[in-house]
Amino acid sequence: MARARSVLIVGGGSAGNTLAILLANSGVSVDLVESRPDWGVLGSGILLHGNALRVLRDAGVWPQVRDAGFAFDSIGILAPDGTVVAEQPDLHSGGSDLPSTLGILRPALQQILIDAVRASGTRVRLGCTVEKLDDQGEGAEAVFSDGTASSYDLVVGCDGIYSTTRESIGVTDRPEPTGMGVWRTLVPRPAELVRTDLAYGGPCHIAGYSPMSDDLAYALLVVDWHERDEADPADYAERMCAESATYGGLWPTIRAHITDPAAVHYTAFHRLLVEGPWHRGRIALAGDAVHVCPPTLAQGVAMSLEDAAVVAELLSSRDVWDDALLTEYRDRRMPRVQTVVDGSMQLAQWLREGNRQAAPALIARILTALIERP
Ligand SMILES: Cc1cc2nc3c(=O)[nH]c(=O)nc-3n(C[C@H](O)[C@H](O)[C@H](O)COP(=O)(O)OP(=O)(O)OC[C@H]3O[C@@H](n4cnc5c(N)ncnc54)[C@H](O)[C@@H]3O)c2cc1C
Repeated sequence: MARARSVLIVGGGSAGNTLAILLANSGVSVDLVESRPDWGVLGSGILLHGNALRVLRDAGVWPQVRDAGFAFDSIGILAPDGTVVAEQPDLHSGGSDLPSTLGILRPALQQILIDAVRASGTRVRLGCTVEKLDDQGEGAEAVFSDGTASSYDLVVGCDGIYSTTRESIGVTDRPEPTGMGVWRTLVPRPAELVRTDLAYGGPCHIAGYSPMSDDLAYALLVVDWHERDEADPADYAERMCAESATYGGLWPTIRAHITDPAAVHYTAFHRLLVEGPWHRGRIALAGDAVHVCPPTLAQGVAMSLEDAAVVAELLSSRDVWDDALLTEYRDRRMPRVQTVVDGSMQLAQWLREGNRQAAPALIARILTALIERP
């Protein structure tokens, strides 16, 4: 019997974990190294569109994701005073048998993926990084921070926006700040909050809230990024209350719960799109390691999961893992990822210019394009 082919995945976030599950389930021998000893995630909640849910279903975790999250099929557009201006049905980018959108706590999604990675037989090393990667033509050798070394048929760097795998293989593209950022926090879910409601404009570019579970909701304010605002996390609750002070709707209820500065996050938006090859020899990249966009379309996780799905499909269906396969992976992903990165940047730009009219049509066009499988 032929030996199982082997893959090393660097980074256990949404891309790395999903790739591990899909590959291990198709009979590939998978090692995964994750630098965080607790395998945890930072941040509060995320929105997943149908095209992300479709990959999670293929990975076998949809029932757990559905039960942990809060699904909905429309979006509310509000005036800054909270008046509902429009209620739009959201496109089902993962097909009509999945919700158009699901809010979920980041730690909940991570735990679901961790449980599935463990169940897949993937060998996991936590608190471990790759010190050196050596492409050897037919495979690659990795030297780990614990002093051990192993050879693999393929290495995939899923190590996020500041990927050291990207750096180690000589890809020189780096994430650039976009000049915008977001205040975010979790609050108890008001009973009437059952979908994303966004106000474009007012003192912030966007003021919005989304359900994340039966109990919790996520409130966000998109603003121009000022480094000085990062300076004093002790002020974060006060700042988020001040920035949202003139917004109506559910904001007064939400603001009453924004009291703990440690529960408020202030995060800058970045852009990255590696336009050249996404691999060197037998070392490839996926997820935020090769593309990052401001979350104006909430498609970052979805694009990372789709990368994992395409890599897994190609590796599990081909006898030969070579340069042509990895080029095909990048060429297949690029038009879709570029559409999302450019669209996210365009939306951010329009928000900064105060142009709110064009956004719904662009969002609908992009989500429609994503209905087709990647
Ligand atoms: C403010 C904000 C809001 C967002 N909201 C949304 C949203 O609503 N919906 C959405 O779809 N997307 C959203 N995104 C984007 C989304 O968070 C990312 O696109 C997604 O997390 C990328 O997944 P990834 O697995 O590629 O990278 P990551 O999630 O960053 O995972 C990388 C993993 O690699 C590990 N790692 C790093 N370096 C090493 C190393 N050297 N060795 C081993 N392990 C390493 C890290 O610890 C981490 O576990 C948002 C992003 C931001 C900044």
